[in-house]
Parts: sequence; C-alpha cells; structure tokens
Amino acid sequence: MTEGIAQTIARRIRAEGPLSVAAYMAMALHDPLGGYYARRDPIGVAGDFTTAPEISQIFGELIGLWCAELWQRVGRPDPVILAELGPGRGVLSSDLLRAAATAPGFRRVLRLHLVESSPILRAEQEKRLGQAQPVWLPSFEDLPDGPLLLVANEFLDALPIRQFVRGEVHWSERMVALDPGDPSGDRLAFVTGPESPAATLLAPVGLRRSAPGTIAEICPAGLALAGALGARLARQPGAALFIDYGYFPSAPGPTVRAVQGHRPVPPLAGPGAADLSAHVDFAAFAEAARVGGAETHGPMSQGRFLAALGAEARLAALSARATPMQRRALEGGLKRLLDPDAMGDLFKVMALVSPGLPQPAGFEANVEP
Ligand code: SAH
Repeated sequence: MTEGIAQTIARRIRAEGPLSVAAYMAMALHDPLGGYYARRDPIGVAGDFTTAPEISQIFGELIGLWCAELWQRVGRPDPVILAELGPGRGVLSSDLLRAAATAPGFRRVLRLHLVESSPILRAEQEKRLGQAQPVWLPSFEDLPDGPLLLVANEFLDALPIRQFVRGEVHWSERMVALDPGDPSGDRLAFVTGPESPAATLLAPVGLRRSAPGTIAEICPAGLALAGALGARLARQPGAALFIDYGYFPSAPGPTVRAVQGHRPVPPLAGPGAADLSAHVDFAAFAEAARVGGAETHGPMSQGRFLAALGAEARLAALSARATPMQRRALEGGLKRLLDPDAMGDLFKVMALVSPGLPQPAGFEANVEP
C-alpha cells in the first residue's frame, strides 16, 4: 500500500524533528500526492465548506462593478491584468466578468489571470471560465507586469501560519510533533519548542508583552504577498481587494482550524482529509502592504461593504425577473452574506491601492478603527 500523507508527515518528523505549524499546514494542504487541495474539490454542499460566491451571485457581480470602477479611476488602461488568487470553482470570476461587461470597454481590455495551486480546482475553473481564455499561474509572483486589478476571496486564510507561545522570559515556537503518548504511531500533538530571543523577534511586535502562555500567530506567506503587492502597486497602477474572515487590530489566540464535511475537527487529526485555515490578521497584512508602498482601505465588514456597493438594489433587480422560489433563494443567499450573525461581520474586506488614488467604492462608510 502506498504511504498516506499522515505517514509522510510522521516520517518527516522522525527524520527532522517537530515541524512548524506552517510546515505542517503546507504539507497537509498541498502535498502533491496526499495534500487536501491536491486531491479534491472541497467547496460546496457536497464538500467541506461553502464560500460567498457559491452562496450568492450578487457577491461576484458587485465585485465586478468595483473592478470596473477602479479601472476607470486608474485611466482605463489597455490591457489591464485582472487576477484572482485562489479562484476555487471559478464562480466569483464568472459573476465578475458578467457584471464587468456592463462597463463599456472594460471587458474587451481585461486579461484574466488565475493563480491556482490545485489541479482539480483548475479543471473546474476551466469549465466555467474557459471562454474568457484565462492564463493560469502557480503563484502571485508569476503575474506579468502591467496595470493590475486583483481579487481574492478566502485565499489568505489558506496560507500557512506559524504559532508562538509566550514563556516566562522569551517566546517559543509552537510545533507539531509525534504524540509522546504514541511515539511509534503517526498520531500528532502540539509541543512547545525552547524559549529563545530569536522566537521573541518573530512574535508579533504589538503582542510581545502578553502574559505567559499567550499564543500568537504570524503568516509569513501572507506578509510576503502583501509586501510584494504593495511594492508592485507603488510602481504600476492598480488595486487589490481581499475578502476573508479575520481580525483587526492584531490579537492573540490560536485560530488554526480544521473543517471536514462542514464540521470542525481537531486540526492535527486528519491531515489531507480536512481543510486547514487560520483567521487573517488584517492589521499585520495592511502594515506589510504599506511598508511595500501601497495605500490601504479598511478592513470593513463584508456586510457593510456589500450594502454600500448596492446589494439591495441588485437583489431587487434580480428579484423582479425571478420566480417566487428563485426570489426566496436570492433573498436567503444575500441575507447570509450581509447578516452580522452569519457572514456579515466575521468576513472583512480590505483594499490595497496605488498611492494617490481616491478612496475606492464601498469604503466610504468605514468608521471602524
Ligand atoms: N475563492 C474561492 C475559493 C476559496 S478556497 C471561493 O471563494 O469560492 C481557497 C482557494 O485557494 C482554492 O482555490 C485553493 O486551491 C487555492 N489555494 C490555496 N492555497 C494556495 C496557494 N498557496 N497558491 C495558489 N492557490 C492556493
């Protein structure tokens, strides 16, 4: 029998010692043989989680209008790269393109680029978006130069994070080891590495004085993306829109979670079988983007952002041509995206823009800290 991902992870720990939480997440999510994204389409009712574009077409349509407006504000560049990071099943881009067609000229000059690591999801994207002749790329760094509009929904939460624990004097890194109660098996457990000044330097600056036992997270891949995108937006005109669940300002606490079949499961129990994600530290992400050279707007709550973009008016327009059953589905879907008790508050929206651009649509009502 071939080795499963749990055995591969255990073998690596036996050879190299405990893994950082980030190394564990990267293997569990992306190992080409047994990794979570390498093996399945995780999205939708039959999968493990459902996302905003899958819940309501209004989500992608409003983001399409947001992109079209920004394209006009940056001087209608031709061509313009329209990039999506982690497009899942391609629903967001497909709704976005339909709405973009209402802005004269925009649809014709945009070049769709999709950054996707999963071959299975890429095949799904091909089905929905093939006609738009997208270019697929493995990483953000591979995007060609030029004016850029970028969108990413539930992409940042999938990036691996590292965890640190405040000790008596210094911080230490929280690692993934073989369970000491089951040393010859493959069962995994969190352990705390040695305290060191080096680990203290890696802990989030604003949280370094937390009480002993505090856990804090950093997302090196997210910070690297924010820095690179910030530098790019300082050089070339454009904007990026990130929507994800997360927090602002930075806060302590472990947020890594695993979800399987729409239910939470222990994060170390089923590598490769469960989705792993972490809440986004929007304060750290914004700071890295600004250091890179971009200006940032938000985060603001998804509910208020979509409302400000005209979600209710779009619902009314769609409802006018819908059957009663379709109308109920449209109303229910939008309510889920907007309601503070559902996705409206936990999900947040942040824009990164080239310096000097006016405030993008949807952020006018932002009075959050
Ligand atoms: N945006 C989609 C899907 C969210 S799931 C939606 O809203 O429905 C996360 C997506 O990011 C998937 O498409 C996954 O394959 C992709 N992904 C995760 N990590 C990635 C990485 N490091 N590089 C490229 N794509 C990645």
